[in-house]
Amino acid sequence: MTGPLLEIEGLTKHFAVRSGLLGRQVGAVRAVDHVDLSIAAGSTLGLVGESGCGKTTLGRCIVRAHDPTGGRMLYRWPDGSVIDVAGLGEKELKPYRAQVRMIFQDPHSSLNPRKTLREIIGEPMRAHKWGTKDEIDARVGELLDRVGLRPEYAGRYPHAFSGGERQRVGIARALALEPRLVVADEAVSALDVSVRAQILNLLADLREESGLAYLFVSHDLSIIEHVADVVAVMYLGRVVEQGPTEELYERPLHPYTEALLSAVPDPDPAAKRHRERIKLLGDIADPAHPPPGCPFHPRCVYAKNVCRTDVPPLREVRGRSVACHFAGELELRGVPELADPDVREVST
Ligand code: SF4
Repeated sequence: MTGPLLEIEGLTKHFAVRSGLLGRQVGAVRAVDHVDLSIAAGSTLGLVGESGCGKTTLGRCIVRAHDPTGGRMLYRWPDGSVIDVAGLGEKELKPYRAQVRMIFQDPHSSLNPRKTLREIIGEPMRAHKWGTKDEIDARVGELLDRVGLRPEYAGRYPHAFSGGERQRVGIARALALEPRLVVADEAVSALDVSVRAQILNLLADLREESGLAYLFVSHDLSIIEHVADVVAVMYLGRVVEQGPTEELYERPLHPYTEALLSAVPDPDPAAKRHRERIKLLGDIADPAHPPPGCPFHPRCVYAKNVCRTDVPPLREVRGRSVACHFAGELELRGVPELADPDVREVST
């Protein structure tokens, strides 16, 4: 296939702020603000940033759980044709929704406790009229087996399973219609460390087997380093840096990326002497009232006068996209490879 699986251009999602008896719009929360991203077939794009930066809203726009306010989402079908799915209506969206699925953060609340695994995993197949009842039941058994659960569990309810097993059920449900892109929103954040490694390895195996692409949304940069081919860093609804994982971790070009990386625990205790956590000034700004100029300037230790007045455009620097007036001029610190013995490297 030539060209990306999904190309996002200028994607914007604003939520109206209303006030008064008549509910008049008095402002807008710019949750996602002119984001450009591209996801190649079979690749993993890691999306990182603090809580409230807009990464979950962006993921929900991609699965069309939110209607974007503006921009384009160009999706490439298996026959090579491309369609803008940003403005499609519910009926036209159905085939897209079969191919782009989501895994949720909390395996406890995302599974209906009154339904058996057979009903939960079979739900998308029934909704898309995928096959007969017997065919769907047989596929549920296959999917359970594929995610490492016994097919005999199909008649049980979610409460009978641990957090890691429930997340496997959520993955089986996401895979039911053989998607080409899965949005994993903090998919392992609620799990214990050992279970987390198992789920990450399962997702990597599924990618190897079926050429799945992932948008992996996480606040945890040590996880992203192990799963992503390309990383996009979001701040206040915008992508401020995007590039190949290894290069971005070794040599960040945006001060916000540098600060996030400085907070990643170092696996080498001896190296701790040389690594200092960069404390960001204040909190992330209110997306309804972003600061003028560079949105990061009130917290940036490198800010100069121009940063307070001029918005830095996203531009190419050393093969990466960066939104900083001084990208390439600042000497920023990255991190060495983050070893995690429980998580296998994902081949690219
Ligand atoms: Fe910091 Fe200025 Fe770069 Fe913004 S443009 S990240 S304030 S140095």
